[in-house]
Amino acid sequence: MRKKVIISACLLGHLCRYDGKTKKTNEIIEAFEEYEIIPFCPEAPIFGTPRERISVIKIDEKNRIITDETNRDVTQLLEDEINSYIRANPDAEKIILKSKSPSCGFGTTPILNEKREILNYSNGIAAEIFQKNYINSKIEDENSYL
Ligand code: SF4
Repeated sequence: MRKKVIISACLLGHLCRYDGKTKKTNEIIEAFEEYEIIPFCPEAPIFGTPRERISVIKIDEKNRIITDETNRDVTQLLEDEINSYIRANPDAEKIILKSKSPSCGFGTTPILNEKREILNYSNGIAAEIFQKNYINSKIEDENSYL
């Protein structure tokens, strides 16, 4: 049986980014030729593509995911989507995530205050949940392969 890797779908060429574009990265696709690749994108199934951008905003010491223009809290929607993905894909040897994304970023996502000023850089909501659930998987940022 081939080893499994979960990869942010936009890195694989899916047109799932907020602007309807992709961030296809051939270095990553080639690095995992021997693996079974399992695409991951929590935003497109909920919000469609293209869509309003979202950000991680720290409110009362908790990171929330808020839409940029309509100021809607979509944290629960994303949590449900991500947890459902984990139930459907319970194991993978590695996980490769798109940097800086409010969902996928792994240590690279800007965390904003309520005035939308950058406080620090940390995990997007999916990377945060993945870390707690895929305890035997190696999680990496896309930049490890560039
Ligand atoms: S960074 Fe993550 S949430 Fe954003 S388009 Fe890529 S896979 Fe989807």
